[in-house]
Amino acid sequence: MRKTWKMRAAALLLTAVCTVGASFAAYADDVPSGPASDMELIQRREQASGSQNEAGDAQTAAGSENHAGAAEGQQTTENQETGNNGQTASETQGTEQGDSQVPDGMVASGGRYIDPNAPMVALTFDDGPYAPVGNRIMDCAEQYGGRVTFYVVGNRVNSYKSEIQRMYANGHEIGNHTQDHKYLQKLGAQEIRQQVEACNQAVAAITGEAPKTVRLPGGGKNSTVLANISQPIVLWNVDTLDWKTRNAASSVQTVLNQVKDGSVVLMHELYNASGDAAVTIIPALVERGYQLVTVSELAQFRGGLAGGTVYYSFHK
Ligand SMILES: [Zn+2]
Repeated sequence: MRKTWKMRAAALLLTAVCTVGASFAAYADDVPSGPASDMELIQRREQASGSQNEAGDAQTAAGSENHAGAAEGQQTTENQETGNNGQTASETQGTEQGDSQVPDGMVASGGRYIDPNAPMVALTFDDGPYAPVGNRIMDCAEQYGGRVTFYVVGNRVNSYKSEIQRMYANGHEIGNHTQDHKYLQKLGAQEIRQQVEACNQAVAAITGEAPKTVRLPGGGKNSTVLANISQPIVLWNVDTLDWKTRNAASSVQTVLNQVKDGSVVLMHELYNASGDAAVTIIPALVERGYQLVTVSELAQFRGGLAGGTVYYSFHK
């Protein structure tokens, strides 16, 4: 009986997934072209895989932007998507979840069903938003019924409002990565509070809801940091070092070698190689039986979150 429900749910989900895939194809048209450090790599991959995502090939802007530069919170003004995302997203979400009864043992969350007892992992992408990569990650995650978490830098969110709206509307999680990506262990109490609060407000101004969790830039913390952040702090236990290697294959290998039920994987949204890695990692994890969930979903099914506490993973 239970199996029948699950099969029916799977069929529903598949239908929804196709709808989502079709609807979100539009995002690919909105990507910019730009300096192309990763262009050759992407083209080789696309040619090899026979991908149909031609427009996606143009997603090479700022591939040469370095991590340190991002850490200084540089403002990016290029490449706003057009503003029709929210509408498409909510229509699709309605289709996906529908009015149907929740299958036995499953929990409705983020526009799809989660099996609390099956393996799950949270993929997290820091330092964005950055629409050319973020939308590609969301396209792929949604195609496979997954949701991911973006730890965003507050001073960037107004440059990518429609990407932020899409994250929110489609059940991805928007986390707080401070306003200016400053290393909080170097700041005083008041500045730490300001860095976290300003990012909370920047996100809430767009979505109406502040981030639930905070990720410390560089993972840097001390007693002053911990004493002045009231939200749960979520770090990671699988580190791809994608910002350093800029090598998709390396990130893929790290994740697939290290991932376990309850892992939190650290990647970055700024790099095309990270997008390449994500679109390989996502189907590979699904194939291995993992559900791709947000940090808050993972915590919900693996013990919960408490304010001012630091988490690295959520194993059973
Ligand atoms: Zn960061």
